[in-house]
Amino acid sequence: MNRNSENGSYTPIDEEINAVLKNEHPYIAKLIEEEGRRQEDTIQLIASENFPSDAVRIAAASPFVSKYSEGYPAERTTGNTGRYYGGCEVVDKLEEYCCDTWRRVFDTDYHVNVQPHSGSSANFAAYMSVLKAGDTILAMNLSNGGHLTHGSPVNFSGKLFNNVFYDVGSDGFIDYDDIGRKVAEYKPDLVLAGASAYSRKIDFARIKKLIDENSDGAKPVYFMVDMSHIAGLVAAGDHPSPFGVADIITTTTHKTLRGTRGGLIFCRPELAKKIDGGVFPCCQGGALQHIIAAKAVTAEECLTQEYKEYIHKVVRNADAMCREFIKMGYDVVSGGTENHMFLIDLSKTHPELSGNQVQHVLESHNIILNKNCVPNEKRSPVQTSGVRIGTPAMTTKGYGEEDFIAVAHKIDEIIRSI
Ligand SMILES: *Cc1c(COP(=O)(O)O)cnc(C)c1O
Repeated sequence: MNRNSENGSYTPIDEEINAVLKNEHPYIAKLIEEEGRRQEDTIQLIASENFPSDAVRIAAASPFVSKYSEGYPAERTTGNTGRYYGGCEVVDKLEEYCCDTWRRVFDTDYHVNVQPHSGSSANFAAYMSVLKAGDTILAMNLSNGGHLTHGSPVNFSGKLFNNVFYDVGSDGFIDYDDIGRKVAEYKPDLVLAGASAYSRKIDFARIKKLIDENSDGAKPVYFMVDMSHIAGLVAAGDHPSPFGVADIITTTTHKTLRGTRGGLIFCRPELAKKIDGGVFPCCQGGALQHIIAAKAVTAEECLTQEYKEYIHKVVRNADAMCREFIKMGYDVVSGGTENHMFLIDLSKTHPELSGNQVQHVLESHNIILNKNCVPNEKRSPVQTSGVRIGTPAMTTKGYGEEDFIAVAHKIDEIIRSI
């Protein structure tokens, strides 16, 4: 039942689960087997995916699946009214333990809410906790690496709030002066840092300073960090920490943190009541206690030395692979990476190729990644001019620098054959 970290392969629990399903739900059993095999047989370079341990998956399928637990553990000090259901004595212990363990992972006294169902739900609840409809959010431009929930017109964030954006400069790095200028110009209610496709370290302290220097003090300006992609790097000390700097910090638990799909919200202790109310009852109903059990397992795993070494490897592997692409003449946004991923911009080197085309051709060779917009994108988000490559998942499967370099050459060969 151990993590199969050497190869991340189709593991015994899949076979056990399937033995149960096979008779009564043969079609679903077949699909589970198919997906297990697909994950085994492909090279997984999607920067936001990872392979959680068997322990995480077992916890997610535990008896906690049945328990309703709207509200929060009674002894919590945020002024909430406890649970709205009986029989919560065990989930109360579980949720408290989960919260405490996540605080240890990030070595923080921030309040944490472990109930958000996903990264998007965490962001929704965080906004609703401190903003009202029509308030202004200043976030990173989506085509420069931001996330849908950071103000896309097709997302709740874009529909509910007034969104303004800062950009990356022509060098591909965040244009920090642009943040300062836009804080002064637009007087946002919340400034958001964090991205889904940005390969450089983000200087949270510098952004906080720019907010303070450029706002007029007439109203509070919340500084929120969405560390969904880089949370594992923050936990392992490979990326500057937003704790002590940001007011609110959201994250997913399934990317570099390597847990099940889910979200977390951290906040300064004085915002605890607002954040808890923002999650429940504002944006969600009952907590998913089986997922909270899996999140607690994930947090325990993140505390291990083994996990920290894993993250160091993820970063070294991304750097090695990225350098190899640059050596082969590819244009990498910002000229390199300092985290777990990088973006290849095909617009100058391969103007005839779209990211979409490259994604599909690579998929037919069992290499899985995703198309991605690049700064100053000329194509639609469906076509794009770039691809995003990440190393967390294959590092979990035991890949080292040499393996990633070999995959870089394989990708180059395939692209040259298109
Ligand atoms: C992945 C991601 C999210 C959303 O997470 P989901 O669990 O897919 O809803 C939010 N913000 C950022 C920056 C992300 O990368």
